[in-house]
Amino acid sequence: MATAPLHRLHHGEPTLGEARRQLLAIAHELHGRGWVANHDGNVTLRLPAGRLLATPTALSKRVLTEQDLIVVDAADQVVQGGRRAFSELKLHRAVYAARPDVMAVVHTHSPSAAGLAVAGVAVEPRMLAEAVVSLGAQVPLLPYAFPNAAEQIAALQVAAAAVDAVTLENHGVLAWGGDLEAAFLRAELVEHLATIQLRALQAGRVRVLPDTDVARLLDARTKAGLGPDARKKAG
Ligand SMILES: [Zn+2]
Repeated sequence: MATAPLHRLHHGEPTLGEARRQLLAIAHELHGRGWVANHDGNVTLRLPAGRLLATPTALSKRVLTEQDLIVVDAADQVVQGGRRAFSELKLHRAVYAARPDVMAVVHTHSPSAAGLAVAGVAVEPRMLAEAVVSLGAQVPLLPYAFPNAAEQIAALQVAAAAVDAVTLENHGVLAWGGDLEAAFLRAELVEHLATIQLRALQAGRVRVLPDTDVARLLDARTKAGLGPDARKKAG
């Protein structure tokens, strides 16, 4: 029996209106989760011509409205919206420069991951099989640097070519993806892993999966179209 085709959503680029709603929802979520305090944290979405849709500086994610979002041009000048750009845009730009496939970047100070970063400990995806498939074998911890120091921007750009999330010593989490949801989910997974890691440390120690299994999981990761090896094949 012939059935009418289901109406399919178009999976192309979101319109700017949709993008604003998605970005606002994620910004509110960052506050709701307790991953930011005061004016911390920021979210960007890549637009054509080097522009970014971004959360503004000097405003809590709790009270942010669609009208508060800004668009910056390729030189990071505000071209839409009445608020100012945040200085951590340079971190976002380093990721976008390294990764043409990345459309969104999320930055948080989520407490478990930031706590480990303060202690100088990297988040360890090899604790759980699913985490290795989702994030790879490591979430690098980038060395402490004064905010926006050139050496950290350069280190981030190198790391971003290989991974989808990092933590920054004495700072927080930066995660990215092909859309806002993917970037958010990676920031969420990094924080969740950090919480598990802290509890494992309390309970005794962090044990990781055997190397042979990690290798198999990384293979599964590539087959799922994730990670640098999958991008090489696709590219
Ligand atoms: Zn920050």
